[in-house]
Amino acid sequence: MQFRKVLVANRGEVACRVIATLRRMGIVPVAIYSDADVEARHVKQAEEAYHVGGSPVGESYLNREAIISVGRSAGVDALHPGYGLLSEQPDFAAACEGAGIAFIGPSSRAMRAMASKLQARRLMQEAGVPIVPGATTACIDVAEGESLAAELGYPVLVKASGGGGGIGMQIVRQPGELAAALESCRRLAERYFGDATVYIEKYIERPRHIEIQVLGDRFGRVVAVHERECSIQRRHQKVIEEAPSPAVGAALRARMAESAVRGAAAIGYTNAGTLEFVLDERGNYYFMEMNTRLQVEHPVTESITGLDLVAAQVRLAEGEPLAFDGAPPIRGHAIECRIYAEDPKRLLPSPGKILRLRLPRGEGIRVDHGVDEGYVVTPHYDPLLAKLIVWAEMRPDAIARAIAALQQTEIDGIKTNIPVLVAILRHPDFAAGNYDTEFIGSQNILASI
Ligand code: ADP
Ligand code: ADP
Ligand code: MG
Repeated sequence: MQFRKVLVANRGEVACRVIATLRRMGIVPVAIYSDADVEARHVKQAEEAYHVGGSPVGESYLNREAIISVGRSAGVDALHPGYGLLSEQPDFAAACEGAGIAFIGPSSRAMRAMASKLQARRLMQEAGVPIVPGATTACIDVAEGESLAAELGYPVLVKASGGGGGIGMQIVRQPGELAAALESCRRLAERYFGDATVYIEKYIERPRHIEIQVLGDRFGRVVAVHERECSIQRRHQKVIEEAPSPAVGAALRARMAESAVRGAAAIGYTNAGTLEFVLDERGNYYFMEMNTRLQVEHPVTESITGLDLVAAQVRLAEGEPLAFDGAPPIRGHAIECRIYAEDPKRLLPSPGKILRLRLPRGEGIRVDHGVDEGYVVTPHYDPLLAKLIVWAEMRPDAIARAIAALQQTEIDGIKTNIPVLVAILRHPDFAAGNYDTEFIGSQNILASI
């Protein structure tokens, strides 16, 4: 069944991104908005837009009943959840389907299988995908945790099974610190995710975050669409991503793709998803988690393959078979920089009115943004303003293009992290592709700006 009208249950840059593809496909895009977003860009870009509640996300963008009721009265065929918000809630996906609205994403069953990191670890291990050494059951008892940590060797990582966004994760470097870490991680996990389950895994030293994009259809076929390198992080959150990874050659790429396909196929995965792996210095990779949705950094994959991943999601949700057997070949190099409304030195959100906005344009430059001049950035939502995605035939040219584009970007009225992005891109170790997830901290990037 071809969709004629689709509800975009999100806001900001991803809502704008999805709306753009829907329009290109001849599908009518319907938006939702909160009190704070009456003037938002995604509202102006949609064909129809409906108010769903107050500014806090709990009243609006997480208001399931209001959203489904808008979908029904607007007569949509399907709903695209974007990322974050309701995108990884299996019960919401099931509720949409129950209301006769197709959910553009995997089945609620596959989402549920991957929602708990612990269960995901068990399932992937059974499927023969290498997982980070450590527990596959919850850590309940401190003494038990201490003996596992001693066996794994320090440092270890205490993780919330229901965690996300880099929250609920603590590195433990010495045995004496484990009990306190378990306790604080449990408290945080309960508060943020309503699930106090924590577990222990090995902390991989000098780690690189490498993830594999997969697409699956309803005929049992799963294809891996190469890797994304996401090691430039602060507080376990991605800041700059690139594809292909400077650390991944053809042989490793093929092995990781095989693992990703094996893992996704084992749970009957359909639609777009991403398996996240940590890569150690010796080239061993281990499964960390699976994100059952479109990823923020999906545009770098689009840039090197020519695919439109949102269009692929729509076609797959319509029930079409995958349009290809193997992934399209990699062409050139792409880098994404996340532009946040934040005080770059203190990493604190910087709300306020955008007085002036000049975004870069030109060959090999794509900007996905969710704000216009005059928009008031509030503390209610994720501070991501825009993503700059550059493409060039060769990696050094992509880096140069990204720096030039950031220098052309003008955002007045609020602070942004653009100086941090430029400092990273200019660093000789970044240029050499020689970096890991501790790069921002270990290179004193924030002190240098
Ligand atoms: P989230 O759900 O918050 O994204 P992840 O499990 O994906 O949680 O971990 C977030 C980040 O933390 C990863 O991108 C990686 O940088 C780091 N990380 C997670 N697990 C490990 C590990 N076992 N060893 C080293 N780094 C890790
Ligand atoms: P068109 O093919 O006319 O550009 P579509 O919206 O059908 O319009 O497809 C746009 C893009 O979406 C394709 O180039 C491809 O990247 C992706 N796509 C569409 N259908 C599928 C599919 N069945 N499987 C995988 N990718 C698809
Ligand atoms: Mg993750």
